Amino acid sequence: MSLGLRIEGLRARIQRACEAAGRDPRDIELLPVSKKQPTALIREAAAFGFTRFGENYVQEGADKAAAAPDLGFVLIGPLQRNKAKPALQCFAEIQSLDRPELAERLRHLAEELKLIRPVWIQVDLWDEATKLGGCTETDLPALIDALGSDARLPLQGLMAIPPPEDDGAFAELAALRDRLQQELGQPLRLSMGMSGDLEAAIAAGSDQIRIGTAFFGERIR
Ligand SMILES: *Cc1c(COP(=O)(O)O)cnc(C)c1O
Repeated sequence: MSLGLRIEGLRARIQRACEAAGRDPRDIELLPVSKKQPTALIREAAAFGFTRFGENYVQEGADKAAAAPDLGFVLIGPLQRNKAKPALQCFAEIQSLDRPELAERLRHLAEELKLIRPVWIQVDLWDEATKLGGCTETDLPALIDALGSDARLPLQGLMAIPPPEDDGAFAELAALRDRLQQELGQPLRLSMGMSGDLEAAIAAGSDQIRIGTAFFGERIR
């Protein structure tokens, strides 16, 4: 299937999900996830008007950012402390901020490099002992403290990869977002929903869906 047809199919899915949920499709951001996809295909997607792409690995993102400096790349994969500097340099936004030490490191580097990078907090409410990363609800106050409303790292919202078998996960995330919004007195967006579960995520209030395979097809490299 061509990229154009897959994008058309996705738009139709988003439209139907929004109709069912009484939401406006214009309120849902579609972030294509281009990990393990060649830059040529990202270029093709850019021709359809997409300007920002999710990437999981710092080195891969750095290579693509160098090859396509006119596009923006968003880090959605786990970030090691020792990769914080290249990550800040090559990504337009970091969605996988998940621990206080990393927030401190990013603040220090953003100041040193004089960079502004929007960040999202990745949360894990399910204590999944996985390598996906994410801050537990218990550790969230310490992380927000460490971020300290730094103007160089403006907080955009919450990102999560909930366990696929958990039907209530998206609603839990939405409730956490609502609570945090109240507490911090600022609007926060929700990045949740992938190729297989975007409908449920939209129904629960997602603001941004991150779509890899349903957008680009199977990952190749
Ligand atoms: C790979 C990935 C996606 C996209 O997954 P698909 O199932 O291919 O849509 C979204 N979010 C994160 C964090 C990912 O790592």
